[in-house]
Amino acid sequence: MKFSHPMLWLAPALLLAAALPPQAQAANQARHAAETAQVLPGQDPLAPVYIVTSSESFARGVKTLATKTAVRRNSLGKTLVIASMPTYRLEELSHYMHEEEGRCGGYFAFGSQVEAETFIRNDKSAQAVSTSFLADYSIDKQALVNPWMLQVQETNIRATISHLSSYQNRYFASSHGYNAAVWIRDTWLGIAAGRRDVTAELFTACTNCSTQPSVILTIRGFEFPDEIVVLGGHLDSIRQSNPPGTTAENMVAPGADDDASGIATLTEILRVAMANGYRPKRTIKFMGYAAEEVGLRGSKAIAQSFQAQGKNVVGVLQLDMTNWKSPSSTFDINMISDYSNAPLQQFTRNLFATYMTPRGFTMNETACGYACSDHASWTASGFPAVMYDEGPIFPSLHTTNDRLENMGGTANHSVPIAQLGVAFMVELGKVRAADSTVPSLPGRGNTRPADPAIPSLPGRGSPKRGN
Ligand SMILES: [Zn+2]
Ligand SMILES: [Zn+2]
Repeated sequence: MKFSHPMLWLAPALLLAAALPPQAQAANQARHAAETAQVLPGQDPLAPVYIVTSSESFARGVKTLATKTAVRRNSLGKTLVIASMPTYRLEELSHYMHEEEGRCGGYFAFGSQVEAETFIRNDKSAQAVSTSFLADYSIDKQALVNPWMLQVQETNIRATISHLSSYQNRYFASSHGYNAAVWIRDTWLGIAAGRRDVTAELFTACTNCSTQPSVILTIRGFEFPDEIVVLGGHLDSIRQSNPPGTTAENMVAPGADDDASGIATLTEILRVAMANGYRPKRTIKFMGYAAEEVGLRGSKAIAQSFQAQGKNVVGVLQLDMTNWKSPSSTFDINMISDYSNAPLQQFTRNLFATYMTPRGFTMNETACGYACSDHASWTASGFPAVMYDEGPIFPSLHTTNDRLENMGGTANHSVPIAQLGVAFMVELGKVRAADSTVPSLPGRGNTRPADPAIPSLPGRGSPKRGN
């Protein structure tokens, strides 16, 4: 069986079970799974999980793992399948989505059929993909963006990837997954030390994220604090094929590209912002999402919470896998063309043309499919989101080989992705009026660290990472 759970596949008990009638076999398998698939308390391996995936993914292979319980359409008219499966089979689903469909996510996960039904009934994707959430997507902060983006340091991104991939794993139901989230919050707070307008929190209002919190750092907007710009990526990791005896605690899942690279890129964008005393007009939120690898759970909880509170999110950038450059790739950055906001995509193209093309960088666009990564959570909740990534994805994704040394040992490929992220942050978040009256710099590529009109901060310009 192609997608058989490895713990079952290797179990001697299965050989005995083969002679039993199918129903008895299933019961035996389930019992055996309960004994071997040791996950943390609260993560009953036999507890049903309900997934929402595309009808195409279901027909292509998910049907071998999960049982269809309903077929529905979302606001885009997309045919979706609700299906149930035991929790222990999620690793196989992750394996299928990577091996057969070449992506990180691919489904949303729920604790009940009712939650899955409600999610589809309340879907706001049609509004999210087409609506213009801002009257004007101007690009006019070249005087700040050009010098700031050139301050992005490969060594900083590399150091963060290196640290985050040194955990045993960042699995959502492990102590390491919790510790990694705390480290990210503390590191981000350290970078923002001395800024009373910057706060950070662990977001725990996710009902199916086990012990893993999401991380949210907020730079309060000086003029339009209720207008929110989000830059995010997922902080968890997973291994898709585990040997017998694997637990949430001992699973080996370094996740250097997926998605330590995204978090490291965000961390460097934040460092550049703080090093230059950036004070945005709009509120900027940096987010590290919990439990993306098991059905976009952390981002879904946050997006639904923001929707329930009527928050005004004007743009979301998702960074998932930024550091592996395929030898066959002929471009530097790949923008995802589906399940994201058309005006924000055009804004990103314009940012690229303004800031990256003149420096010789190139961008590609591809579709990624339903529920491909956390941007899809924002889209489903009616918010404008965009995602760009490394291009053809890392072949070692979701394996023990997702390590920095297998990506050339550098963070070079993440640098232009971080630079475009600096442009996204400043041009969407804008700059408070007092800091906007800076003269234009003479030309692109100027490396002046910051304009003198911006008040100096202690540690400004230093590559301090806060740990
Ligand atoms: Zn990912
Ligand atoms: Zn992944």
